[in-house]
Amino acid sequence: MICKLCGEDRKLIKAHIIPEGFFRPLRLGSTVLEMHSNTNGALPKKSPIGIYDKNILCEKCDKYIGLWDDYAHKLLIQNFSENFAVYEGSTKAAYKINVYDYEKLKLFFLSILWRATISSQPFYKRIEIGAHEHILKEMIINGDPGGTYDYAVSLAKFSDPRIKEMLDPHKTRLNSINYCQFYITGFVLYIKTDKRNPPDFLKEFCLKRDPPFWIILRDIDRGKDGKIMKDIVLKAIQK
Ligand SMILES: [Zn+2]
Repeated sequence: MICKLCGEDRKLIKAHIIPEGFFRPLRLGSTVLEMHSNTNGALPKKSPIGIYDKNILCEKCDKYIGLWDDYAHKLLIQNFSENFAVYEGSTKAAYKINVYDYEKLKLFFLSILWRATISSQPFYKRIEIGAHEHILKEMIINGDPGGTYDYAVSLAKFSDPRIKEMLDPHKTRLNSINYCQFYITGFVLYIKTDKRNPPDFLKEFCLKRDPPFWIILRDIDRGKDGKIMKDIVLKAIQK
């Protein structure tokens, strides 16, 4: 079995695409996590430890990427709190992270996209990024997070803290610029897969070397995915 990162013939392990730790908060209060699709309704799929792929990474490479997974988990799950909220008057307007490691956080996001594109798991089948796959692999091997606009990353968070479901990731366009969109434990991750710069409205919200990192607040009443998330929550409450 050939590891897709180091290219060596090694025993491959059960590698998560979105790390297992990001699924744990979802299990609090409910026994099984449900994965949903916002297109075909073929899911929900019960997946208590998230989705892994046995055909992509050796243990050494999984551990190498795992350092970034651990960092991001601490920052975005363990230590994330409402103290990061920024208010305009009495209305929550955004979240703001003042202290973070650009390299580790950016490489975590890039590795999610890369792992999703090399995985053959059906949940990730809508992530197909052509030649970007090879470029991302080189960046990961070299520990190179690129500049702000290289695979620019923006993050949104649903305003309702009950929203923690996962929808399947997919490609999207923001003002005609190509992006891939992932749902991660209440966050929505946007990664640019386009040579052009991000749209103007997103430039302030790109992850950059100099803090702060502004996180967009997503209203669940806007957008198809928000409505699906809301329906899932309402159904769960009624159970
Ligand atoms: Zn390897």
